[in-house]
Amino acid sequence: MNIFEMDAAYVANTYRRFPLEIVGGQGALLTGADGREYIDLGSGIAVNTFGMNDEAWKQAVIAQLGAVGHTSNLYYTAPQAQLARMLCERTGMKRVFFGNSGAEANECAIKAARKYASDKYGPGARPTIVTLVNSFHGRTISTLSATGQEVFHRDFGPFTPGFVHVPANDLAALERALEENACCGVMLEMIQGEGGVIPLDKAYVQGAARLCALRDVLLIADEVQTGNGRTGTLYAWQQFGVVPDLFSTAKGLGGGLPIGACPLGEKVKDTLGASSHGSTFGGNPICATGALNVLSRIDEALLAGVRAKHDRILAALQGAPGVEAVTGLGLMLGVKTVRPAGEVVKTCMENGVLALTAKDKVRLLPPLNIPDDLLDRALETLRAAAQ
Ligand SMILES: *Cc1c(COP(=O)(O)O)cnc(C)c1O
Repeated sequence: MNIFEMDAAYVANTYRRFPLEIVGGQGALLTGADGREYIDLGSGIAVNTFGMNDEAWKQAVIAQLGAVGHTSNLYYTAPQAQLARMLCERTGMKRVFFGNSGAEANECAIKAARKYASDKYGPGARPTIVTLVNSFHGRTISTLSATGQEVFHRDFGPFTPGFVHVPANDLAALERALEENACCGVMLEMIQGEGGVIPLDKAYVQGAARLCALRDVLLIADEVQTGNGRTGTLYAWQQFGVVPDLFSTAKGLGGGLPIGACPLGEKVKDTLGASSHGSTFGGNPICATGALNVLSRIDEALLAGVRAKHDRILAALQGAPGVEAVTGLGLMLGVKTVRPAGEVVKTCMENGVLALTAKDKVRLLPPLNIPDDLLDRALETLRAAAQ
């Protein structure tokens, strides 16, 4: 039985996989079981911030494995406290809750927003969280409820009550939703990732922040995909001219290890009291060490590199035959092609380049340190595939 057959026989069939087994890699170059090398423009969906098998990250994690692997959150471990401090110092947030995934980081944000309102206005007085049509916030029942895409809802109801979806970039609709519902939070992705790599208008985000502040409704940024340097700033909200009351992040934070974080700002820093929330693995020393290594290396030089590579990609793709538009920020890009995105990605893979799709776009999420020569080679392949 080969791996494809074993997977088909024994793994829950929730994934439509590409017909490729990955057996190794170095940086942005992955090795298939077919003996071929592939240039990685997906990073395990924005996770492998510094690519596969990054030496500094690996050595840090190995050293931690040899010291303290797991303790539960009943004891103190240094990496978790150090990571929380680094996140706070670099964002202005005041405390951090750690989980293991994006969905859990969002669950924490939802619970914090509801408890903030419950503490202040009475239990159940303001339960509603407004999110956007075409958003994606995760696959747990509550984060699915938050997700504004019907395709994810079919078959799984009943859902957690208290979520309202409004169209993006429509400030009047948001204001109406805040008037008509008893709201504790507004949750936004600065760039809708799974929704097709669609950035929000800056003026809309700033307007939403103003509406939230006026009504003591918490602004929650879902930075699960956009975070950790992906868009050319440490967090995407830092280039929209707003400061959220709290935000969630995960994917790229651990550089390949599962960790999610919910940094909490001044208003909500003490909202989640003892025993109100928790996670067995959350902020585990191994994952926190991986995240510390990643975060400490996302400095201004790296971010300038991300923005330069963005310009390089735009120069190669904008106006290229078969390319209709390129959307996104930094190294989170959506490419609208004349050929269906799935077919373009398939052709790319046949020619040694791994890309992703998001709705009708080809989605690019390369490692933040992908060398320019590899990037250029991959873009040449993508240009050819788009025609
Ligand atoms: C991927 C993603 C999530 C869910 O993260 P998981 O780690 O898969 O639970 C939530 N929000 C956004 C914006 C995402 O891109």
